Amino acid sequence: MTHKIAVLPGDGIGPEIVREAVKVLEALKANHGLDIALTEGAIGGAGYDVAGDPLPAETLALAKASDAILLGAVGGPQYDTLDRPLRPERGLLRIRKELNLFGNLRPALLYPELADASSLKPEVVAGLDIMIVRELTGDIYFGEPRGIEVRSGERVGFNTMLYSESEVRRVAHVAFDIAMKRDKRLCSVEKANVLECSELWKEVVIEVGKAYPEVELSHMYVDNAAMQLVRAPKQFDVIVTGNIFGDILSDAASMLTGSIGMLPSASLDQNNKGMYEPIHGSAPDIAGRDIANPLATILSVSMMLRYTFNNEAAAQLVDDAVSKVLADGCRTVDIYSEGATKVSCSGMGDAVVAALG
Ligand code: NAD
Repeated sequence: MTHKIAVLPGDGIGPEIVREAVKVLEALKANHGLDIALTEGAIGGAGYDVAGDPLPAETLALAKASDAILLGAVGGPQYDTLDRPLRPERGLLRIRKELNLFGNLRPALLYPELADASSLKPEVVAGLDIMIVRELTGDIYFGEPRGIEVRSGERVGFNTMLYSESEVRRVAHVAFDIAMKRDKRLCSVEKANVLECSELWKEVVIEVGKAYPEVELSHMYVDNAAMQLVRAPKQFDVIVTGNIFGDILSDAASMLTGSIGMLPSASLDQNNKGMYEPIHGSAPDIAGRDIANPLATILSVSMMLRYTFNNEAAAQLVDDAVSKVLADGCRTVDIYSEGATKVSCSGMGDAVVAALG
């Protein structure tokens, strides 16, 4: 069966990094029997430019009709003054919501060759391998009521932190399932000492955990989790948390690994249909110069093969090719260190394709 992939490059470095990931997919198709069909669509600022909408109807229809979506990044200074609903980031929030992509997987994995790039001591981070599962379609980012209004003669801004039991249950299942495939340790992160929303979160996670007796479940307040992530990050295997806490913690975890240009992510629905994208943004400061690191996007392809297409062999091929290229000393500028070979964005893509064999 042909896997249909929607390719949404987006803005800034998006088109450059996605081009390299597509090279990898095409090489797997040509040389390793991967049966795929790619169709491109516009999103973010690019969507606004062509259709006046950061998520054009055509792109949404394409995404809905596809088995998986490969996304670059969205956003740029030229769009910052648009009305909120027209801003590129809204396109991203909407596509996640429309496709019900509630489970966001963000691995933080440190390649041995890049241990020096971390801001922490190599011994604290060497061998780091964490998976953060972040709920993506609920919480304070979507809760109603929200707004800015005048109360008692001054403006107030307000949002609502809200989770239903079913929302917590489904993301807890995703996290427990992943923990079962890893070291069988899951840490649920919330703020149950202060927030009712977190109290419910914790209760539901404990309830779901009864179906996974092999998984060691622990609980941590988000402030402590932030501290532990920089103090002793290797204590974690899988972390599950809500949307806003996950947003912050996964960014902190990403810096443990040294470069934001190395980290992929997956956002899954109930049936493991997924959108795959690097965790970084559109990096307008380096766009159009062929110097961005495409590895986060290429590793997003590997996650697509693993989680949506259940093709562990092909995923491993990509992972191994990336490891080989790093071991060979190839580095884009963001991960460059003395003695390595500096390569461009397209040079890195070519090196990974060559390493696929
Ligand atoms: P950013 O992630 O785009 O960039 C942060 C820094 O990291 C920059 O110095 C950039 O050059 C560097 N960087 C990022 N990706 C890189 C890569 N692959 N290779 C080398 N260096 C890389 O974050 P920002 O600067 O805060 O935001 C820029 C734009 O991206 C904004 O419009 C923002 O809204 C948007 N954004 C989009 C997403 C997304 O599409 N998922 C996520 C975050 C930010």
